[in-house]
Amino acid sequence: MLIDSYGRVVDYLRVSVTERCNFRCRYCMPEEGIENLGHQSVLSYEEMFEFIKICLDNGVTKIRLTGGEPLVRSGIENFIAMINGYKPGLDLAMTTNGFLLAKKAQALKDAGLKRLNISLDSLDPKKANFLARKDVLEHVLEGIKTACELGFGVKLNTVALKGVNDAELVELMDFAKSCNAQIRYIEFMENSHASGELKGLRKDDILGIICQKYNLKEITKSPNSPSSLFKLEDGYKFGIIDPHKHDFCATCNRLRLSAEGLLIPCLYYEDGKSIREAMRAGDIKKACEILREVIANKPEKNKWENDGKGEISSRAFYQTGG
Ligand code: SAM
Ligand code: SF4
Repeated sequence: MLIDSYGRVVDYLRVSVTERCNFRCRYCMPEEGIENLGHQSVLSYEEMFEFIKICLDNGVTKIRLTGGEPLVRSGIENFIAMINGYKPGLDLAMTTNGFLLAKKAQALKDAGLKRLNISLDSLDPKKANFLARKDVLEHVLEGIKTACELGFGVKLNTVALKGVNDAELVELMDFAKSCNAQIRYIEFMENSHASGELKGLRKDDILGIICQKYNLKEITKSPNSPSSLFKLEDGYKFGIIDPHKHDFCATCNRLRLSAEGLLIPCLYYEDGKSIREAMRAGDIKKACEILREVIANKPEKNKWENDGKGEISSRAFYQTGG
């Protein structure tokens, strides 16, 4: 089992398979895109898989593939099949922008992927285009439809932004309900790669908007997640991810692996250690040592509060996978 120095059990690994992306979301990437890492810097699927096996053998029970956009890396379905073949029944999920999903969903399902979080910020084609800097909505909606038809567990992620999609938050929830999918509103996290003009809505603003149409019946807290769960009177559940609060750190169970092999113990902490050389040398003992060291040094709390006091995080979402 992987237990950090604060007694937290780390059993959830998020793997960013690529930094590349077919969108240029204003809250995540600069308009010109990012420098290509180059083939040599990125871990091969085999190298990632060898490391994932170590994690699975040490108590990790949940894996999420993310990016960048995971569906732009070719052979992703083979990678999923490798992981699933090692531990069939594993909680294996992906976060995607959905653009390529209609084409790939069946192959992902056949490979053993169980759940999908799909980003959907607007149902207005112009706004979706404004945010992604590309005409995306039609393909994304097709992707959501296909994923639901194939029986994936689907959640929709919506970054709530003032003056962009605040008037649509209820409509987005109604859409999610119609797909039988849980919507999770995400507070915008300021970072140095995002457009400076964006302003996020906070949890209370989001709840205020939802309450104009719906009564909230019950509130529960997800145990290991930065997401708070809410229930409408009709039983529909939705989430709000409010990282500006710190109360989820005490139960954080996450570890992140970047496409370049950086092992990151906390999303909001400029820290990490590379396993790339160890994996390339086939040195499993060394990789295990690095894993133990990173877990032992997992910080008690994220540094988001410091960022709020003037510093803006330089941690890129397209590197960590969110
Ligand atoms: N490309 C995939 C996608 O967009 O779903 C996966 C990677 S993306 C970095 C993962 C999640 O991070 C998405 O749901 C995205 O909306 C969210 N995200 C990116 N930048 C963010 C920011 N500045 N604040 C809050 N959420 C952000
Ligand atoms: Fe790409 Fe996802 Fe970042 Fe948007 S949020 S630019 S889809 S990695």
